[in-house]
Amino acid sequence: MSERPVCAFLWLIWLFLTSFLWRCLFAVLWCCQYTPNPNSTLCPTLHDREPQKAVGGEGRVHRVMESTLTARDRVGVQDFVLLENYTSEAAFIENLRRRFGEKLIYTYIGSVLVSVNPYKDLEIYSKAHMERYRGVSFYEISPHIYAVSDNTYRAMRTERRDQCILISGESGAGKTEASKKILQYYATTCPVTDHMSTIRDRLLQSNPVLEAFGNAKTLRNDNSSRFGKYMDVQFDFRGAPIGGHILNYLLEKSRVVHQNHGERNFHIFYQLLEGGEQDQLSKLGLERNAQKYHYLVKVCVCVCGCCPRVSSINDKSDWKTVRKALTVIGFHEEEVEDLLNIIASVLHLGNTQFGEGEDGETQITTEPQLTYLSKMIGPLSFEQAVAARDALAKAVYGRAFTWLVAKINQSLAFKDEVYNSSKGSSSVIGLLDIYGFEVFQHNSFEQFCINYCNEKLQQLFIKLTLKSEQEEYEAEGITWEPVKYFDNKIICDLVEEKHKGFISILDEECLRPGEPSDISFLEKLEDTLGGHAHFVTHKLANGKTRKAVGREEFRLIHYAGEVNYTVNGELANQSVICQSDNQILSQCFNREEVTTQKRPETAATQFKNSLAKLIEILMSKEPSYVRCIKPNDAKQSGRFDEALVRHQVKYLGLMENLRVRRAGFAYRRRYEAFLQRYKSLCPGTWPNWQGRLADGVATLVQHLGYKPEEYKLGKTKIFIRFPKTLFTTEDALEA
Ligand code: ATP
Ligand code: MG
Repeated sequence: MSERPVCAFLWLIWLFLTSFLWRCLFAVLWCCQYTPNPNSTLCPTLHDREPQKAVGGEGRVHRVMESTLTARDRVGVQDFVLLENYTSEAAFIENLRRRFGEKLIYTYIGSVLVSVNPYKDLEIYSKAHMERYRGVSFYEISPHIYAVSDNTYRAMRTERRDQCILISGESGAGKTEASKKILQYYATTCPVTDHMSTIRDRLLQSNPVLEAFGNAKTLRNDNSSRFGKYMDVQFDFRGAPIGGHILNYLLEKSRVVHQNHGERNFHIFYQLLEGGEQDQLSKLGLERNAQKYHYLVKVCVCVCGCCPRVSSINDKSDWKTVRKALTVIGFHEEEVEDLLNIIASVLHLGNTQFGEGEDGETQITTEPQLTYLSKMIGPLSFEQAVAARDALAKAVYGRAFTWLVAKINQSLAFKDEVYNSSKGSSSVIGLLDIYGFEVFQHNSFEQFCINYCNEKLQQLFIKLTLKSEQEEYEAEGITWEPVKYFDNKIICDLVEEKHKGFISILDEECLRPGEPSDISFLEKLEDTLGGHAHFVTHKLANGKTRKAVGREEFRLIHYAGEVNYTVNGELANQSVICQSDNQILSQCFNREEVTTQKRPETAATQFKNSLAKLIEILMSKEPSYVRCIKPNDAKQSGRFDEALVRHQVKYLGLMENLRVRRAGFAYRRRYEAFLQRYKSLCPGTWPNWQGRLADGVATLVQHLGYKPEEYKLGKTKIFIRFPKTLFTTEDALEA
């Protein structure tokens, strides 16, 4: 026999065998219904691969479970409810750390998204990524801000119920970036007609404008939002964006006249000076040099002169973006001029200097044309005149900001006649980007408001999480087992209760005739709130002094921890401008308007009222949550400072959140998804279960040896109490 036919024969056998082996392999895979999941915790490069589209509902929910023990060890679990030791803060942080190390910045606690700021572009926000998350069920795909965006959008459309996404976290944690990503997701993926594209563009362009006027460089964040923001995006019956509305909270006006070392004033001042046209600056009487302006140069302590430039910020190009955005939003040229005049006037005001007149009265020594102002503030001392000037600057800026928001709202308002799309009902998705819990060395009224706001949001969060858990159990016919949790209503009451709450006492003290005094205010607080479990002053019950609380301080025991607030000068500082004998000035700047943060009286009440309205708005919607965490204070990528993260996990109430979510069952899935996933493990359900889904699942879990205390069968879902049960089943699949 020649060699050639032998070779050909052998080659044919080899071909047959290999193709047979491949077929066998495919058959086995098919039998196991296994498709490698690019989005499981197994796969750190999950964002680079295309996940399959969902068949619908929770059809492929199980894919998140496709993780071997080794993979779980390496990248952690993508839902904290699957942590075995779910009450352990250390295990929680370890899971975050592992995932962060693998560039997996998102993790769920049930439906809550926890996000860790990567401080670098991870290239996971492209249009292709958006497409991957479109229409895909929440748990089927790796955690992502787009999954939350999409889920919320679909819930709005299918349930016809208003939604809101609450984003919280401390400064620099990534709240504003998250809210922008959500907005971009809607702008890119929602259907739009030509008319609607205008609204879509305006919604997007409102960000650079509000950031220019409301954001600033701080030590913690180069683009820190110095106001709280709630934005409603309105969608028509086809799911297209047709309007929007913004509510703003507590702008940090004190920044206009004072910044801490290393911080800046609001971006807009530097943008105008850097990017404004020369003749525009001349018209406004401004020089292209931020160092010429008293309100802008407190930024550093170096002797060589101060440089208000920041490496991560390009004021010149930002100016161009803002100017363009103002046009897109629909500002007229005159309105822009007016706005710039106000910005310029604040800078001029800051440069107004005072000296002593012939008769010892305070006079403005700069700008002779402003002498009338000096007459007006004549009766004031030098310090009082400076305070009056600063109060004026803050008030002017604050009002300009309010006007700006109102103007943006006008341009975002849904105009029926234009879009003619009100035939179907419209729905709303609200985005809340608001400051997280704050604790500094010295905490003033501003921190008080912020932390009070967080108390209210925490209360809402716990209430709604519990409510939705309870509703799901009831809908599934499973007995609700009450969950023990800390109800922070007691702290909210301490702050806001009528007549005997903190804010009432503050108002009363400010309204009292005569000079308001910090000491008498503290005494009043002590008289009314002394003995309250969450209020502490330096006085101990035995007459001794508590060292940890200063004489001009009080301590509130918040849900997230203890905070000492200083009242030193809080009240007295605020009556300065009202003492001017000029009627107009004292009327224009009545007590509650002189400052926001430092004027407790009406500022507190106003804040309380606006917060109550916000809570009402949020209560009327279905909430989703994004909890942002800052991994380090140095704004560095790849660095995970455990102590800092632990602090935030505590302040965001994440352990309580997990406890509530895990109180009953760690895992729940619709019957069809569960059966589809695990039917191959039981001869009775394999290859296809023909009967009722619930019976199929019952057969399956009996075969798997689930103990009665490990699971419950609801109307449409199986509830599994412990992750271990699920992991054992999952490992059986892998075996
Ligand atoms: P503040 O309360 O001070 O306004 P914030 O929580 O809104 O803080 P952001 O301004 O959103 O914080 O984020 C701070 C910076 O962190 C951003 O300017 C950006 O550089 C970086 N950052 C945040 N989120 C991301 C992300 N998902 N990917 C990459 N970088 C991010
Ligand atoms: Mg922000």
